[in-house]
Amino acid sequence: MNIRKLSELILDYTFPPSLYCICCGNIIDETRTYNLCDHCMEHMEWNFDEADFAKELQILKCVEYGIYGRTLIFSLKYKNKKYIARDIGKIMADRLAFSHVDFDLIVPVPLSPAKKSARGFNQSFLIGKYLSKETGKPVIENLLYRNRDTLPMRGLSPEERRQNIKGAISLDEKTFRKYKAGISGKKILLVDDIYTTGSTAAECARALNLTEPEAVIFLAFAGRDFA
Ligand SMILES: [Zn+2]
Repeated sequence: MNIRKLSELILDYTFPPSLYCICCGNIIDETRTYNLCDHCMEHMEWNFDEADFAKELQILKCVEYGIYGRTLIFSLKYKNKKYIARDIGKIMADRLAFSHVDFDLIVPVPLSPAKKSARGFNQSFLIGKYLSKETGKPVIENLLYRNRDTLPMRGLSPEERRQNIKGAISLDEKTFRKYKAGISGKKILLVDDIYTTGSTAAECARALNLTEPEAVIFLAFAGRDFA
């Protein structure tokens, strides 16, 4: 058994079916979809916007960035509840099926090395891993990387966000060469936990376009629309 298989087994063992709603903590049974209670299922602001493949960068989200969506992301990122990534992966798989999104591989939005080591994991990669399990499509962790630190996006205006992230994401040439046949000419699904102005997604897409993919589609778990 290789290490990857072993770590997957350990993940499954560590994350048995939840006894508590992953959002509000109410007691649930194992029949609940996404391990959410009826109340949270109902109040989660699900997004069913149709995909517009004519757009240069198709952006999709699963839920609005409201109290319920935000609670899941905060619990995953700041309370170390990594098992939530499994349910988000399932939600994403269903969201993609709903919009008939076809893709070949999954690429997570990268974290800076400092952030990753502080948190211990990249939540987008973790989500991507479970999405990969659900869909059978491969996930490539290190195809993109942050070449410099950026300011936290919270509190910045759309223009400040654009400037903050501009040029900060690069294509990892070594990883690209290794998996080139599976990337060039393929449809790449770029995955993140959240999007606000889409400036991070646009920077990632710019770097991914160097691989000459057929398309880049961006999917976030929760999104907020700037008017
Ligand atoms: Zn709940």
